[in-house]
Amino acid sequence: MDKYVLEYLWLDGYTPVPNIRGKSQVKEYKSFPTLEQLPKWGFDGSSTKQAEGKSSDCVLKPVAVFPDSSRRNGVIVLCEVMMPDGETPHPSNSRATILDDENTWFGFEQEYFLFQDGRPLGFPQDGYPAPQGPYYCGVGYKAVGDIARSIVNEHLDLCLDAGINHEGINAEVAKGQWEFQIFGKGSKKCADQIWVARYLLERLCEKYGIDVEYRCKPIKGDWNGSGMHANFSTEHLREKGGKEYFDALMAKFGENVEEHIAVYGPDNHLRLTGLHETQSIDKFSHGVADRGASIRVPHSFKNADYKGYLEDRRPNSQGDPYQIASRILKTISEVPIS
Ligand code: ADP
Ligand code: MN
Ligand code: MN
Ligand code: MN
Repeated sequence: MDKYVLEYLWLDGYTPVPNIRGKSQVKEYKSFPTLEQLPKWGFDGSSTKQAEGKSSDCVLKPVAVFPDSSRRNGVIVLCEVMMPDGETPHPSNSRATILDDENTWFGFEQEYFLFQDGRPLGFPQDGYPAPQGPYYCGVGYKAVGDIARSIVNEHLDLCLDAGINHEGINAEVAKGQWEFQIFGKGSKKCADQIWVARYLLERLCEKYGIDVEYRCKPIKGDWNGSGMHANFSTEHLREKGGKEYFDALMAKFGENVEEHIAVYGPDNHLRLTGLHETQSIDKFSHGVADRGASIRVPHSFKNADYKGYLEDRRPNSQGDPYQIASRILKTISEVPIS
């Protein structure tokens, strides 16, 4: 038998955006534990806005497990929060109620800022650095500073070791702003991996004295905000597609703008202004290779007779990927397949 360190993670009850919480327990196993071998656990919900003090127990139900290469025998246990009966999902548990379909593939592009002392990494103490331009995919100390590259690369390694489908990294348009991409088949699978990747990034940054800033418009003015573009494809879109179906799908997205924006992350009006590669929050548009549209249609999609994946550019960096993917699936499900 070996001792394993199980880090139980869950989303708390803060609104509009939950925080990741975690606590660990040590248990003995013959080998790396499977999901079925991981017990339910509890926590004090009165400290996370999930219960009253007089009846404070909430239950953690393991739903996904990942190796944690930052420590010997490390195990990350992603959990759903349940009521004291252990069976009923807690109202804050968005994962329990979302639509899922493993044949729908999602690729999220998570943008974020690295912050130090309350401002983006590389911003001077007073005022601003040189305007945007050289930072996107920038190379060299002047563009990205001295420690950001180590952070994003270490994060990539942690994700790969955990079995997360991390697909790549780029420095973003604003100074101190970065992106990583995660791809998964099924909304739960992809969204679980986003949450664990967010956790790994925040935890890694602790030792650098750096915060991960997920708010979508942390710097006012001529600085890009942070999105979490949701790329998606159903089996039908990948294999059949066609212009008629595409037009019907886009019409349905156009009818549901408010419903989508409602779950695409808080304060999105600050970011979706029609500037900085966005469409205005109250408009809906789509266009081939158009980064000022709500939905960007890749060239490859049009060239393949409207087959492939689409990019919804409206979700923001602070959005809950469970709810974002679920809403996209709902709108897709309202369009009949002929
Ligand atoms: P860009 O920055 O040009 O918008 P990225 O390369 O950052 O593009 O992101 C593209 C995303 O599209 C990736 O997350 C990738 O996983 C995702 N993607 C590619 N093909 C598919 C597909 N068939 N279904 C869903 N997502 C896809
Ligand atoms: Mn990208
Ligand atoms: Mn980007
Ligand atoms: Mn994109």
